[in-house]
Amino acid sequence: MAIAIAIAKKNTAKTPEVILPAYGCPDLVAAVLAQEAKPVLVDLVPGAPFMDLEQLKKAISSTTVALVGVGLLGIPERLDRLSQLCQDSGVTLIEDSAQCFPPASNRRQWADLIVLSFGRGKPVNLMGGGALLVRRNNLALAKQILEQFPLLEMKIGLGWKVKRMVFNLFLRRFPYFLLEKLPGLDIGETKFRALEEARRVALPEQLVFSGIHQFRKRLPIHRSYLAQLQLLKQAGWDFLDEETPSSNAQSVPRNRFAILAPSAHKRDLAERALNRAGIGASSFYRCILPEIDGVPEITGASSYPNARKFSDRLLTLPCHEDVTEADIALAAEVLIRSSQD
Ligand SMILES: *Cc1c(COP(=O)(O)O)cnc(C)c1O
Repeated sequence: MAIAIAIAKKNTAKTPEVILPAYGCPDLVAAVLAQEAKPVLVDLVPGAPFMDLEQLKKAISSTTVALVGVGLLGIPERLDRLSQLCQDSGVTLIEDSAQCFPPASNRRQWADLIVLSFGRGKPVNLMGGGALLVRRNNLALAKQILEQFPLLEMKIGLGWKVKRMVFNLFLRRFPYFLLEKLPGLDIGETKFRALEEARRVALPEQLVFSGIHQFRKRLPIHRSYLAQLQLLKQAGWDFLDEETPSSNAQSVPRNRFAILAPSAHKRDLAERALNRAGIGASSFYRCILPEIDGVPEITGASSYPNARKFSDRLLTLPCHEDVTEADIALAAEVLIRSSQD
């Protein structure tokens, strides 16, 4: 829907283009293709989930309608810089805040449009759905575009309540590595799925507020990880947090805590050791967008060396409310031991 609005804002005769980071969620590619636009990928800077600004400038053309700035694992993109670039070139800036809550553009009006996900594994988890936040100056046009999408009423009936109960009582407490092995539950598996139809869902306001409230109650336990894992630095590991420009990001609760291993091999060893110890570590998407299973041919540069390196090195640790200080100490011990092997 955000892309449909961006297309309507900038009428181009040719196929509209949308710029995405080369490492990320394949649903972004599906969203662009669903609006008959062309995804254009941009490499990252070394060792961080941010787009390379020089590459980005080269990727912007007269047919570029939107740039998607993606906040990964609670760390927002450098929206101040992206916003400047977009203003200079008449491109709509979409903040994908599916993994960050609240969105960075909540504090400063950097993005024109913000997307939130309320899906499983996201900060505000309502087991599905999401939100599109629209800047006031875009509101009239956005309303016109949004009306073209079918609207569903969401009923919180018995079926929904049973699903939530199962989710809360069982799935959430179940070790992640076991979940991955259950047939039919494709958690942890990254696959491309085409988006057949985008629909609006009238989520009950109360449900959204309660999801936000649940997330706000969490503690910023990623700071404990940060404190306990300092020894890893000497073994060549890096922390994404030190690249975070906004100090605010440190005190907001996270969904997962991200670290970068010295190599893909070390990352894989650590992930296995952690999962064996019962810590739900995950290496996330594991490959760059063009290499994700089922992603259609997409254009852009011929290679994305920094994004590839990032996908090889990334390891994420759980930050949900059941993670205790003892779990963090155990994770630190396992990680430090595995990095010495
Ligand atoms: C999960 C995710 C999405 C897609 O959100 P859904 O609500 O599952 O469609 C988009 N972008 C990012 C960065 C995500 O993590």
